[in-house]
Amino acid sequence: MDFHLNEDDLMIKETAREFAEKRLLPNAQEFDEEDGMPQQLIDEMAGLGYLGMMLPEQYGGLGLTTVSFCAAMEEICAACAGVGILMSVQNSLCCEIIYRFGSDHLKEKYLPKMASGMVGSYCVTEPNAGTDVAGISTQAVDKGDHFLINGTKTFVTNGGQAGIFIVFAVTNPAAGNKGLSCFAVEKGFPGISIGAKEKKCGMRASDTREVSFLDVKVPKENMIGDPGAGFKMALTILNSGRIGVSFQSIGIARAALEEAVKYSKERKQFKQPIANFQAIQFKLADMATDLDAGRLLAYRAAQLKDEGKNIVREASMAKLFCSQMANFVVNEAVQIHGGYGYMKEYPVERYFRDARVCELYEGTTEAQKMTIARDLLKE
Ligand SMILES: Cc1cc2nc3c(=O)[nH]c(=O)nc-3n(C[C@H](O)[C@H](O)[C@H](O)COP(=O)(O)OP(=O)(O)OC[C@H]3O[C@@H](n4cnc5c(N)ncnc54)[C@H](O)[C@@H]3O)c2cc1C
Repeated sequence: MDFHLNEDDLMIKETAREFAEKRLLPNAQEFDEEDGMPQQLIDEMAGLGYLGMMLPEQYGGLGLTTVSFCAAMEEICAACAGVGILMSVQNSLCCEIIYRFGSDHLKEKYLPKMASGMVGSYCVTEPNAGTDVAGISTQAVDKGDHFLINGTKTFVTNGGQAGIFIVFAVTNPAAGNKGLSCFAVEKGFPGISIGAKEKKCGMRASDTREVSFLDVKVPKENMIGDPGAGFKMALTILNSGRIGVSFQSIGIARAALEEAVKYSKERKQFKQPIANFQAIQFKLADMATDLDAGRLLAYRAAQLKDEGKNIVREASMAKLFCSQMANFVVNEAVQIHGGYGYMKEYPVERYFRDARVCELYEGTTEAQKMTIARDLLKE
């Protein structure tokens, strides 16, 4: 495959790097310790176009390709991966599902608001349905001119910041996975309760909550796509999300590798920098090689998406490899730092915690393997 970043991609990447180094890097530790990011930062990011990167200009977006978006994601996540998730869920899941499957009315109503700062949450997971998406029990009952939604979604990223929830619910219990539909639910609709912020191991800048819907009246026109198409849309859009998580993993791994290289040159043992030891050099070589391999897999998926190709297998391969790669790289970075790598004084401790979730959300490692194998076996 012929892959390279073009001038536009490089410019977007450079701009994101400058923003990340100035606004995120100096504050990432504080966001981690305080379990959140300030609203002012989200507003600032919206002003720079980071909340509608791939939306056409017609809807207030930057009209960028997936490849350009990914180039920016790597920079943002290398500085603060928790902020990167907000951006990933907003662009790859929430804006994208309305843009690809929503009616013209929904696109005109919500996309310009989202591009200018209205944060979205993607609500699939429930206390008793994670990997088994079709097992959700949130109900949307047809009441003539509206649906009545009842149910509870868990682990909702951006839950406390969202102005709009993309909610998957059962509209036809007898139809199995063809009985799920998807709705745009405004935060202001009566009956929504937002739970307390989850206390997480990592990605603590990101806001994760339970969101409950009690007799929430949702206008019929707020259904995204066709009735019964929810399961298919959820999986289609997750392919985009998986590319986003791949670049979260790449950003975290790159930051960890850079810290490990720096530390190995500074830290002396046996009267010389530890970088002189082959054991350390081999670790750095493996980390850099895996990082590059992951980046290539992920850009391949992004480029194929931009070309309109089917990316089920490629997106899962990228997510599978990159999330495991990030966990390998951060683990080695901690090892290279010795005991200091276990202390909050050094950022690798945060990278170590942040990387873990990349193997869990938007499909676990096992779920990616199931997807890849299913795709292979159907040939
Ligand atoms: C920080 C964070 C943010 C999140 N944000 C969101 C969000 O914004 N929106 C949202 O909808 N969800 C979100 N999630 C939920 C996430 O997508 C789920 O946690 C994930 O899909 C796994 O579901 P589960 O936790 O219920 O695990 P389970 O599905 O219960 O899985 C438990 C274990 O069993 C394995 N397993 C399950 N089924 C199989 C099988 N058939 N074969 C082999 N192994 C299997 C899994 O791989 C896993 O190892 C978030 C999660 C976290 C931790």
